[in-house]
Amino acid sequence: MSFNIAIDGPSGAGKSTIAKRLANELSFVYVDTGAMYRAMALYFLRKKISPKDEAAIATACAQIDITLAYEDGVQCVLLNGENVNAYIRAEEVGNMASSTSIYPAVRAKLTALQKKLASTCDVIMDGRDIGTCVLPDAQVKIYLTASVSARAGRRYGELIKKGVAADYAQIEADLKERDERDMNREIAPLKQAWDAVLVDSSDLSIDEVLAVLRDIYEKAVEKGVADADVAATKGNE
Ligand code: C5P
Repeated sequence: MSFNIAIDGPSGAGKSTIAKRLANELSFVYVDTGAMYRAMALYFLRKKISPKDEAAIATACAQIDITLAYEDGVQCVLLNGENVNAYIRAEEVGNMASSTSIYPAVRAKLTALQKKLASTCDVIMDGRDIGTCVLPDAQVKIYLTASVSARAGRRYGELIKKGVAADYAQIEADLKERDERDMNREIAPLKQAWDAVLVDSSDLSIDEVLAVLRDIYEKAVEKGVADADVAATKGNE
């Protein structure tokens, strides 16, 4: 049986940075589910489909094939065979992903694919609904969050570092809007699974968050071994 780690949380909480590093340390496969929603969104944008046109989006879903490939440990999202990693990080694509991830046709397609991936190998999967819907039986569940101001500050800092003009107020407003949509949609809204551990990264460095997650993982492994021992002892009685 594969070992699954689910990490959920709002945009900008550091999920992908942390998940990537932990996956590397543990030799797990990292699955960035947001990238899959973004690849679908890119298709809708290229076809000039309105995010409000649910029927057109549902029809388009049947024409989309999403696969993941790994090159030097980096996840590449293939949209109908094309590696679209270079295009999916644009703000426009993120907003389209957030607007179209509310539809059942989009979610059903990607959820099935994510469940299949997690059943075949040890994964760290990050997203919004992993602990609640995609992998309800994951051995480790984390809800990684941070205050809006901490998340906006980080995003602003990243853009400035890259030499890209950035507007802090706009970044904060976009984050709030995305949180609002992700948390309040009807299907698979972003929320902490009842059995997930809450980690607030507002005042922690990446290394500190990583240490917290490593500790949660190690405790879950110890508990798994102890539970298996108890089951084996009972079986021998
Ligand atoms: O995580 P990322 O910002 O790349 O995700 C883009 C959008 O995809 C999110 O705003 C969210 O609406 C959607 N998403 C989702 N469920 C997931 C992952 C992402 O609805 N498991």
